[in-house]
Amino acid sequence: KAAGKGQAHIFSPDMETRIHERVRLETKLRDVLETKDGLFVFYQPIVNIETGKVTAREALVRWHHPKRGWISPGEFVPVAEQSGLIDQLGQFVLEQACRDAVERDDGVRVAVNISAVQLGKGTIASAVHSALVASGLSPSQLEIEVTETALLGAETAGIDDLRRIRDMGVRVALDDFGTGYSSLSHLRVFPFDKIKIDGSFVKEAVDRMESAAVVKAVADLGKRLGVTTVAEGVETQAQLDRVREEGCTEIQGYLFGRPAPNDRDAAKIAELNKS
Ligand code: C2E
Ligand code: CA
Ligand code: CA
Ligand code: CA
Repeated sequence: KAAGKGQAHIFSPDMETRIHERVRLETKLRDVLETKDGLFVFYQPIVNIETGKVTAREALVRWHHPKRGWISPGEFVPVAEQSGLIDQLGQFVLEQACRDAVERDDGVRVAVNISAVQLGKGTIASAVHSALVASGLSPSQLEIEVTETALLGAETAGIDDLRRIRDMGVRVALDDFGTGYSSLSHLRVFPFDKIKIDGSFVKEAVDRMESAAVVKAVADLGKRLGVTTVAEGVETQAQLDRVREEGCTEIQGYLFGRPAPNDRDAAKIAELNKS
């Protein structure tokens, strides 16, 4: 505004609103990371395709914003990543997930997502370690999920971090497999314990033979490497039948269960949803 008339507007009013909104979201997120008020961890089951038994639960962060209501992690995780808040957010999820797993004590592993920004700084392994120690969870009961894009930037530093985590006895999964630029090369540089096939392939696998072929190729690869292959985003019986036929060993999706809070949070959330 101080530039006065005659100066070209760098930001359109529309962009200005969006930037404002982003800054507001960042400020609120900073607050909520202090108070933890309105921040929750939901859990979605991952199921063995043959036995139907739950092998793991994926921890998914949820935020109930005082004015806007529920905001999707697809919106606020990037804000956290770009504002330096992701380490704090990640630690909240990690610690809560470990605590909840100890409390449930049912032998089902818990899987926690790690953002690209948390990787390659040499700090994440000790963060994982401290969450394990604080909760008393056995490392074998924890999984860390990283997306392919997480490995693009700081490649060797990121791999070093993952190696340290895996050396503790924590399992490491490659998330959203097939959506990155060099999916296969990631399998060469790190011994992942699990490959999660992106839901977009699963959805199309029923009526597009190209996508079915990708699912089968990944399932075959998993077998060859002795690695679990999870089909993500399974919503229908037809999709389940198809991914089983193509050889996936585990599934995750609304067909089997939606992300849900622990019992203690469920009551709080019912109240939030009323107001
Ligand atoms: P993701 O890691 O690929 O997680 C799976 C997403 O798919 C979740 O969305 C889940 O609710 C959704 N989903 C599961 N089954 C189905 C299905 O059958 N159909 C459809 N349409 N969707 C399904 P959500 O919880 O909204 O999370 C979105 C993304 O946000 C996650 O993708 C992950 O990348 C990120 N995210 C969530 N929680 C965390 C976290 O604690 N830390 C980090 N760094 N990222 C997180
Ligand atoms: Ca994930
Ligand atoms: Ca995924
Ligand atoms: Ca995803």
